[in-house]
Amino acid sequence: MQINSCTRLCCLIGHPVKHSVSPQMHNAAFKELGLNCIYLVFDVLEEMLREAVDGLRSLRILGFNVTIPHKIRIIKFLDELDNSAKLVKAVNTVVQRNGELIGYNTDLYGIEQVLREVDELNCGLGLIIGAGGAGRASAIALTNLGFSEIIIANRTFKRASNLAKQIRELGFSAKPILLTDLSRYASSANLIVNATPLGMAPNLISETPLKRDHIKRGSVVLDLVYNPLRTKLLIEAEKAGAYTISGLKVLVAQGARSFKLWTGIDPPIGTMYSAALKALRGEKT
Ligand code: NAP
Repeated sequence: MQINSCTRLCCLIGHPVKHSVSPQMHNAAFKELGLNCIYLVFDVLEEMLREAVDGLRSLRILGFNVTIPHKIRIIKFLDELDNSAKLVKAVNTVVQRNGELIGYNTDLYGIEQVLREVDELNCGLGLIIGAGGAGRASAIALTNLGFSEIIIANRTFKRASNLAKQIRELGFSAKPILLTDLSRYASSANLIVNATPLGMAPNLISETPLKRDHIKRGSVVLDLVYNPLRTKLLIEAEKAGAYTISGLKVLVAQGARSFKLWTGIDPPIGTMYSAALKALRGEKT
């Protein structure tokens, strides 16, 4: 790809961002489609968020992704929110149109899309572990999929209880529980989604929110953590006879949705998946 005066910029802002595989994933798709675009990563400190957003607006950037810790705070610096961002109350994708910055939540789309592809999914009782941005996106995705009951387990009860209240206001049955009570409810769940960093490399890699004894045979377990690819939770779930899904699938699905929003073009999903996988394995893309 030739970088020239017409090259359009996309990027990720967050802190820390050093281990992101989004540049490899998006640049592989730009290359395959022959688009004159480039995706970079910027480490933006919390106190510099406003300046960073104003800078990206003035550069008329094509669009950008937002990650921890800016997904919620960025909302006040944007011009408009799509329904996805209003529902989840967090933004992970921004599109620039005529100088205006519009916030979206493509994690919601990614989670829903990945779950829709699972034939084994029984939309009865869904259990979500975590009530942060990814937990909220998961809960809304489960309402869109028509789950009859949603349990939200979180370390901080208040956050689980606020999310459950929002879900009930949307007309669905939802119950908040403490993370310490998880094992009591998990064995009845048809779907378990881990939306916490438990199991994530490097510091929490040996952790799992649940052991095999508490996971129902034939249930579906989605771990939003994608590094490592096979988390301790997924290994326990496999042993329990559950259908397991790695967070990498969601990463690619949400990234593909962002790509489409920026360019108007459906990206090559397989190329994005293998580029992200190679980057995670430390291989050259
Ligand atoms: P967040 O908004 O910061 O929320 C973090 C959640 O994890 C909260 O519920 C928090 O509980 C809980 N938590 C954090 N540390 C914990 C610990 N040591 N023990 C138990 N609970 C803990 O983050 P997020 O955006 O929701 O992301 C959550 C996870 O999902 C991350 O690992 C992220 O990488 C992953 N994710 C993956 C994708 C993907 O595409 N695959 C997309 C989005 C997120 P409290 O409320 O008690 O603090």
